Parts: sequence; structure tokens; C-alpha cells
Amino acid sequence: MLYINGEWRKANSGKTFDVVNPATGKVIATVASGGQAETKEAIECAHQAFSTWKKATAAERGAYLNKIAAIMKEKEEELAYTITTEMGKPLSEAKREVKSATAYVEWFAEEAKRVYGETLPASHPNKQLMVLKQPIGVTAAITPWNFPLSMITRKIAPAIAAGCTVVIKPAPATPLSAMKIFECFHEASLPKGVANLVMGPAEEIGPELTKNPLVKKLTFTGSTAVGKKLIRDSADTVKKVSMELGGHAPFIVFEDADIDAAVTGATGTKFVNAGQTCICTNRIYVAENIAEEFGRKLAERVSALKIGNGLDETTEIGPLINKQGFEKVQDQVADALAHKGEILCGGKPYHAEGLDGYFYEPTVINFANDDMKIATEETFGPVAPIFTFKSEEEVIQKANDTPYGLAAYFYTKDLSRGLRIMNELEYGIVGINDPAPVTVQGPFGGFKESGNGREGGKSGILEYLEEKYVSINLI
Ligand code: ADP
Repeated sequence: MLYINGEWRKANSGKTFDVVNPATGKVIATVASGGQAETKEAIECAHQAFSTWKKATAAERGAYLNKIAAIMKEKEEELAYTITTEMGKPLSEAKREVKSATAYVEWFAEEAKRVYGETLPASHPNKQLMVLKQPIGVTAAITPWNFPLSMITRKIAPAIAAGCTVVIKPAPATPLSAMKIFECFHEASLPKGVANLVMGPAEEIGPELTKNPLVKKLTFTGSTAVGKKLIRDSADTVKKVSMELGGHAPFIVFEDADIDAAVTGATGTKFVNAGQTCICTNRIYVAENIAEEFGRKLAERVSALKIGNGLDETTEIGPLINKQGFEKVQDQVADALAHKGEILCGGKPYHAEGLDGYFYEPTVINFANDDMKIATEETFGPVAPIFTFKSEEEVIQKANDTPYGLAAYFYTKDLSRGLRIMNELEYGIVGINDPAPVTVQGPFGGFKESGNGREGGKSGILEYLEEKYVSINLI
């Protein structure tokens, strides 16, 4: 269903699309498929609502967000179940996502009250200078399927905290989590038009969001290719854009590292969500003299991961989202083997009774090298290639030798080396002996072609604000 101006709606055309559980191949829901006309209407309603929402006090806006967070907590189980059934991640991870999605709502409920302006020292005795921060206006948000709930709240919460109104388009694979969060908005009596939901074909909805001059801001999480297109499409109306795009995270293990901690860290950051996150490790670089031990221990750990339907509480690896994702993994593994890679564990599709999805065994590849596709392409699947290195200089050069710059991880016990590497990495997020750096108070975002803008932290709300500079002549 679409949610426009505070009401649940069907598409004008009556068209629908199916939502499929990727673990079973079964249709679990059929939802409205809107298009350009509904998107335009949603934008106009958001524009209308902006004239009053921007005038609400920060405390009022924060109170709505707190109410939404309280409702999300009541519905935690239901929200997690929805995530798992529509995109396949294990229920334990889905519950973590609901907690993190809720944490963004609570964080921005507080940040709404801290949109401080500035006064500036003037260079003339009779002048007084100020900088005001004001909401930018109607915001379009386009979100992916891999975190179908938290990517929505990480955008909508700061936008409405800042005083903006929003039209959101979720990924076609995961409209149900989006509908669930809009149920929370509805229950919290969020004023009509403040948040609107449209779903349907990207080719129809996308151009309206990027070209409509009433939309002042576009926030996107997804692939780099689509992000670049959206930036181009937004150019004619000079929208402010923030982009969370692809990654190609290096995970570096120095010879002085705690190897067992690094094995645990690599397993966590590579195989979470079956490898389908933009901050997942994509390349593991291990110091030559510890590579054999690291590879053996990693393969031991990874081969024990339990594959299955995410609804089974013991599952650690769910299915890949679709055929395209599955084929990319198969292709990268075949290519690695053709380039003298060796499989330490996994390496093939997984089949079992009751499962009918794109399952792939968690895989570790030894003797990875720069000729392999996996050395330069994002995998978005459960494959961990192990490269080796001899020196700090060499590994820094390799880690940075990519157009991506989202997350990087490294393990060392040497403080000076830690600080040197931290400074050299061209990445927006760095985990030092820490495979899980993302948290609500930290700014999330990438360098280079991994995007621009930051989400979360105290920067998150700035993306939805304009600065207005005022000079007063005290005549
Ligand atoms: P993925 O390959 O992981 O699905 P995408 O970048 O294709 O990542 O998708 C992320 C989001 O962008 C989804 O909501 C998708 O529908 C949307 N999207 C894809 N192509 C376009 C487009 N041309 N215009 C607007 N949105 C798009």
C-alpha cells in the first residue's frame, strides 16, 4: 500500500507487485505498485505539509519521534519477523536491525533540539552577524533492501527532526518493512503529509523524485551506479544530495595482531547478512608470515556457520536476495579459481529440504591476487578472499587502490602503527581491532565514490538543513 497525506492508498492504476520470501521462494504479500502520478501527488502533499511542519518547535518534532520509537519497541518482534521474511537475514540480525533503527529515531528526537545557529564577530562596529539553520524542504529518500528498516529511519528521522517532510521509495524487494514503519508513524499521529510512502517501478518513481523542483533534497543508499545516475538526474534542479554507495572494505591483519580476535572479527564483518552490506569486508590482507595460521582458523570458523531459513533461531547465514546477487557470487568464485585461487571452505551453492532460495555456502578463498575480479569488484555475498602482504607501505597502497572508500578494518597491537595506518586509510569509517564500528552517534559515510554526506551522529541532521547567513546593520 502507498501512504500519501496520512492515508493508506492503492495505486491509481490498481497495479500490484508480489513480495517473495527469498528463503522459500513463496509469495508472502502483494502490494500496490504506484508510479509517476502518485509520486507527484505525494511530493505536493509533502510540500503542503512543510509549510506547517517547519514551524513546529523542535520539542514537538522530537516528541513525535519519541512516540514513534516507543511504538517500534512494542512492535519489535513483528518488525524483525517482517525483515527476515522479506529479505532473508537471520532473525537475530533482524532484531539487531530493529534496535538500531529505533536508536536512530531516538537519537534524532534529541538532535532536533540541538540545531544551534551561530553569532559571528562582525568587522564593523555597527553590524551584528548571525547564521540560522533552517530545514531545506521536501526530501526524497530512496532506500535499499539489505537494511529495509534502519536505512529508512536513518534518513526519515533526521529529516523530520530538522523540520523537513519526506517522500520515500523503498526497494521493490522490501516494501513490507517500509509499510510497517509507516504504521508506526500513523499510530503516532504524525501530521498528514510529513512522511509519505510510494513504491513501484524505479523507472517511474525515480525521475519524478529527481526532477520535481519541489523536492529540495535527495538522500539515497544503494549501488554506486544508481547513485551516480541520481546525482546526474538531480543536477537540473540543483538538489542537495547525500549518497551512501558501494564499498570494497579491506580487512588488514598485521603480524603482531591478536589472530584469534582477527578471525572472529573477519567472520563477523564478512558474513553478516550473508555478506550483503556495503561495509562488509571484501578483501582480507594478512601479513605473509601468519597467513597460513589465519587462513586455517578462518576456514574452521566459517565452515561451522549454519545456513538456513532466517526464521530458524540457529541460522547464521540466510539466502542471497536474488538470482543476480547469487550469479555474481558464483562468477567471482569461478573467476578466483581460474586465477589460481584455492578454496579453503565453501565454494558452492547450498541446497536443503524446505529451502528454495539462492543459498551459497560461506566461502574462504586462499591465494587471492590482484588479477581476480574479487580484488576490485564489490562481492555483496559470503566470499572471503585472503591476500598476503609483506610491508605496511604495500598494504596501505593496496587498501587504498580502489575508487571506493566506505569502511576499512585493521588489526594490530602496535599503537604507533595503528595511528599511522588510521591516518593513511582513505575511508570514511575505520575499525581498529573493531569489526563493528557502526553506531548511532558515529557519522556514517564514505570517501571517494562511496558517496557523500554523513548519516547518524551530530552530522546526520545537517544534511537536511540550510544555513542562512544574516547581516544586520544597526542603523
Ligand atoms: P541493489 O543493486 O542493491 O538493489 P540499487 O542501487 O539497484 O541496489 O537499489 C537501491 C535502491 O535504488 C532501490 O530502492 C531501487 O529500487 C532504487 N533504484 C534503482 N534504480 C533506480 C533509478 N534509476 N531511479 C531511482 N531509484 C532507483
